[in-house]
Amino acid sequence: MNHSELLAWLRETDDDRLEILWGKADQARREHVGDAVHLRGLIEFSNYCARRCAYCGLHVDNQGVTRYRMSMDEVMVCVRLAHEFGYGTVVLQSGEDYGMTTDWMADLIRRIKSETPLAVTLSLGERSHEDLTAWREAGADRYLLRFETSNPDLYRKIHPDLGGRISDRISILNCLRELGYEVGSGVMIGIPGQTYDDLATDLLCFRDLELDMIGVGPYIPHPDTVLGRQVIDTESDQQPPRDERMVYKMVALTRIMCPWANIPSTTALATLNLVEGRELGLMRGANVVMPNLTPPEYRVFYEIYPSKACIRETAKDCHGCMGRRIESIGRRVGTGRGDSRRMKNTVFAQD
Ligand code: SAH
Repeated sequence: MNHSELLAWLRETDDDRLEILWGKADQARREHVGDAVHLRGLIEFSNYCARRCAYCGLHVDNQGVTRYRMSMDEVMVCVRLAHEFGYGTVVLQSGEDYGMTTDWMADLIRRIKSETPLAVTLSLGERSHEDLTAWREAGADRYLLRFETSNPDLYRKIHPDLGGRISDRISILNCLRELGYEVGSGVMIGIPGQTYDDLATDLLCFRDLELDMIGVGPYIPHPDTVLGRQVIDTESDQQPPRDERMVYKMVALTRIMCPWANIPSTTALATLNLVEGRELGLMRGANVVMPNLTPPEYRVFYEIYPSKACIRETAKDCHGCMGRRIESIGRRVGTGRGDSRRMKNTVFAQD
């Protein structure tokens, strides 16, 4: 699809026409990545953050956040639980926390790799090339870093530089690729000042960056952030809504543009529709979910946006819930690490 075709789908409001889009996405999902839904156990191990991203509740100036950093032993308890539950991957996520040092993280990665067969995904923000190199050498397999928007002006507005270093997530994504990580990125939908046109460009960027993993979710305003205090111009016909249907359109179009990618049905989407958001995401292109392993006493403080789904649940609750949801729509829980199938694309092209 080209830019104008993408734009037409993004602006489509007819439910019968949209059924066609959902069908195409579901078919592409089935043909390229199959019926397995891969489980990635999410461990939100620190909510310290040095940055001032305009959308995120964890930004350094937010005095209202109770900060925590889990110990290595606490993280390992979650990791072992992931293995017990049969997950193939753990995702280690945090704010951009420089109290979490290069060596501490490398030790943790080595410990996970020596004690379990799990794939390790990192989501630690815009860390230095040296850090990313050290962690790859320690055995990390994948890295998630959303670029959030492909519109350069909007990007700069919501990602202030840090310590004189310009925020440039796209160049970090390229470094990650060179270092041999599987690379994941994505965007938020409905950011104030974003346009339909931007979303179409986001989708073309996903394709051009040849991402292995792509997460898209609604922007959810946090009252203690610069952006959360901004009034959205709902009158503008350029501004996409941050509603459920808009998210499904982006999930579906992402699948069509990047058929081999691993695409999660996100917690932010579940936050918009607790009853069946996860399932509808999976039925309209997604093939991954990320059950939360963070101990409940910490997860309440990982408030990137308010009213996050599943905030009071335990790891066991999330585990059971995800399994039931997957089976309720006739899919199956994936086995193994659920590695990227993107390179199969190349093999296929050569056949
Ligand atoms: N520090 C890491 C992890 C951030 S949390 C990083 O910067 O990559 C992971 C994702 O949560 C972010 O990439 C962003 O897309 C999402 N997020 C943050 N604030 C949000 C908000 N207000 N609404 C919706 N999603 C948000």
